[in-house]
Amino acid sequence: MKTLRLVLGDQLNIKHSWFQKIEQDVCYVMMETRSETDYVKHHIQKIVGFFLAMRNFKRTLQKQGHEVYYFEIDSINNCQNFKDNILHLIKELNITKFEYQEPDEFRLSKELDDFTKNLSIQSEIFSTEHFLTTRDEVRKFFENKKTWRMENFYRMMREKYNILLDEDKKPTGGKWNYDYANRQKWKNDNLIPLRINKSKNVSSYVELIKKLNINFFGEIDEKNFIWPESREQALLLLKDFKNNFLKNFGYYQDAMHDTEPFLFHSLLSFSLNTKMLHPLEVIQAVVNIYDEKKDHDLLPAVEGFIRQILGWREYIRGVYWAQMPDYGQNNYFQFNQTLPGWFWNGKTSMNCMRVSINDSLRHAYAHHIQRLMVIGNISLLLGLNPQELHLWYLGIYIDAIEWVEMPNTIGMSQYADGGFLASKPYNSSASYIHKMSNYCGGCRYNPKEKFSRDACPLNVLYWNFYIKQQDRLKGNQRLGIVWMQLNKISHDEKIKITEKAKAIIKDIETL
Ligand code: FAD
Ligand code: SF4
Repeated sequence: MKTLRLVLGDQLNIKHSWFQKIEQDVCYVMMETRSETDYVKHHIQKIVGFFLAMRNFKRTLQKQGHEVYYFEIDSINNCQNFKDNILHLIKELNITKFEYQEPDEFRLSKELDDFTKNLSIQSEIFSTEHFLTTRDEVRKFFENKKTWRMENFYRMMREKYNILLDEDKKPTGGKWNYDYANRQKWKNDNLIPLRINKSKNVSSYVELIKKLNINFFGEIDEKNFIWPESREQALLLLKDFKNNFLKNFGYYQDAMHDTEPFLFHSLLSFSLNTKMLHPLEVIQAVVNIYDEKKDHDLLPAVEGFIRQILGWREYIRGVYWAQMPDYGQNNYFQFNQTLPGWFWNGKTSMNCMRVSINDSLRHAYAHHIQRLMVIGNISLLLGLNPQELHLWYLGIYIDAIEWVEMPNTIGMSQYADGGFLASKPYNSSASYIHKMSNYCGGCRYNPKEKFSRDACPLNVLYWNFYIKQQDRLKGNQRLGIVWMQLNKISHDEKIKITEKAKAIIKDIETL
């Protein structure tokens, strides 16, 4: 009797109960396949990051004494897909049972479900032991509720896991949410510490990827690859964040700056999404700092950070599983504009977009507000096709896995689900970007102007969006101020706005 257990590239959780004892009748399989490298055009750092972390995980398992079969991307016996590689091993090793952990992507989940249904040997599925909710817990929580608002779910999670609660079960500090304290612009005032950089030389990986003609985009500093390859490195990143960055994380959570791509963000999403780190250990590390220091000033940062992981991350996953398989096809506004070329090379005169896209191309990373209020905002105002945009987001970021990327793109940033996830479209004219960043200072456009030659395109695109979408959005209670302001714009000016917006969109490549 021999069992084969599949470990996927985002299941690098060495604390999983599977790995706690060595079993002679169990072996593991891991694989790099073209089915995974090619289902979307990925950033080069994303491909390297996954290969590096997977190979490291294999070595860790082997060192512990586990039997591991690993298909490297260029192994001659690699069939380049899960099904054929597994079938090959089942035959070769006389496997009598196949086991796997719940895949987080619908695509893989379905593939493995279908595969095991037709398998002649027994199979069993296990939890990844990673998330703090089951796949359908969010759906059940909101059952019979009119709206799915994250805040209600987040409070339930704080209670369920007893996080930042006083003895009387009231929220620490008296408030559940300190978001209002987290909206400062960064003006070179608070020094950003140097990051602990366990950089690696990954030239051999880049060479391999090029040799195999794997389609990729983006840049890579081959001798200085920064993303963690192991749990140890991920733990160092966490330690560095909580000791040196957390204090200012809250204040500057929404800030943007043209020379500081990372500001005070944690950079932990890759470590979390590959499961090298467990969300609860990250949350606990941050709570412990607060408990140790008892510094009330830390509370907005600590609460803000915890809300992202305990609240948003789990909620987003729940929305994904409640809405799949159709969620990705949503296109509420029926937008069909194709992505302009500058999404792939960063060559646009809009400084906010140039910096955000170039940060993404350079680091396979942009922080949340760049993803949401610059790239997502401008995409929505330009009427870009949400499905094309989803594929771009899925490819470019080191942390992009469909369960988290898709609801953030389709729901939060594009409102393409008609408001299932977000209570209103997240968009703005130039004023928000001007307020939260230094981007406008270095821009050829003027953030204060609407119609002049140098006027910021966002200013007419923003009003054009609401003029055009008024019928679809007029029932939205949260847009009261927008309608009030819109009513103050004269009929003639509205015509001027829509005409200018049309011209901007027609010349989208030259923006
Ligand atoms: P920090 O700012 O330090 O936040 C801490 C952690 O909170 C993150 O590591 C992440 O795990 C979690 N988190 C914060 N916001 C969210 C959120 N909205 N949804 C889920 N988790 C969140 N995140 C991904 O992990 N993968 C993606 O593919 C992804 N795509 C996105 C696409 C769009 C259009 C938008 C608007 C957001 C997307 N996010 C995605 C969410 C968020 O932007 C990233 O998690 C964050 O920028 C990662 O950087 P960080 O680790 O430094 O995060
Ligand atoms: Fe972006 Fe407009 Fe500011 Fe330029 S002026 S950086 S385009 S918001």
